[in-house]
Amino acid sequence: MPLVAGKVALVTGGAQGIGEAIATTLAKEGASIAVLDVNLEKATETANKLRGFGVAAEAFKCDVSNTSEVEAVVNNVVDKFKRIDILVNNAGITRDNLLIRMTEQEWDLVIAINLKGVFNFTRAVGKIMMKQRAGNIINISSVIGLMGNAAQTNYSASKAGVIGITKSVAKELASRNVRVNAVCPGYIQTAMTDKLSEEVKEKMLAFIPAKTMGTPQDVANAALFLASDLSSYITGETIRVDGGMAM
Ligand code: NDP
Repeated sequence: MPLVAGKVALVTGGAQGIGEAIATTLAKEGASIAVLDVNLEKATETANKLRGFGVAAEAFKCDVSNTSEVEAVVNNVVDKFKRIDILVNNAGITRDNLLIRMTEQEWDLVIAINLKGVFNFTRAVGKIMMKQRAGNIINISSVIGLMGNAAQTNYSASKAGVIGITKSVAKELASRNVRVNAVCPGYIQTAMTDKLSEEVKEKMLAFIPAKTMGTPQDVANAALFLASDLSSYITGETIRVDGGMAM
C-alpha cells in the first residue's frame, strides 16, 4: 500500500530542487499534489511530470511572503482538491552577506519569504486542518538554523524561527490530530548551493562527517516519513538530514 495514498499535499517552492523531490516522492506514494511556486512555468512542468505517476497535480502561482496571495491560493487549492492533508513549507531563499554589510533589504526579504511565508501558509492551511480534525505540516528549516553560519545571519534567524514555529504550532494543534515537524537539511545539491564558489563548497564538505553532499531525495525521504503514518506519534520534532554536519 503506498504510504500517502489518497492524500492531498501542497508543496511550496515545489517547482524545483528539494520541493520538486518532495512533491515527486509524495506523488509516487499516491498523493495528489498542489505545486506552488513564484515561477508558474516551472511549477507547471513539475505538475505535468507528477501526473505521470497517476495522481492529480496542479500548478499554482504564489509568492509565499504575500499574505493575501497565500489566502487566495489556499482557497483555490481547496476548491480544486477539496481538502489539504499535507502542507510542506519548503520555499526559501538566501541573500548572504556579513552582518555589518548586510542591507536592510537582504534581511527583510529573507525573513519575509523564509519565516513569514511559513506563518502565512501554516495559518491559512492550519484552519482547514483543524476543521478536518486531521493534517500534517512539514517545515523545511536548515542546519544553519541550528548552528548559525558566518554571512548568513538573516538566513539562520529565519530558519531558527521556523523551528520555533514548528514547536509552537505542534503544541497548538496536537489535540486536533494535526502534526507539525521540521526537517533540517545540511548541504544539499540544488540550484541554491550550485551558486556557491568551489572554495566555499570545499570548506563545507570538510565539516561533514559523511564527506559528501546530500541529494534532494535524501530530504524527500525524511519528508515522506513525516508525512506518513509511519511517524504517527511524532510531532514538534526536528530531523536533521545532513550527513552528521550539525551533530
Ligand atoms: P531552490 O532555490 O532550488 O528552490 C526553491 C524554490 O522556491 C524555487 O522554485 C524558487 O523559485 C521558489 N521560491 C523562491 N521564492 C519564493 C517565494 N517567495 N514564493 C514561492 N516560491 C518561491 O532551493 P532548494 O531546493 O535548495 O531549497 C528548498 C528549501 O530547502 C529552502 O527552504 C532552503 O532554505 C532549504 N534548504 C536547502 C539546503 C540546500 O543545501 N540546498 C540546505 C538547507 C535547507 P525561483 O527559483 O523562481 O526563485
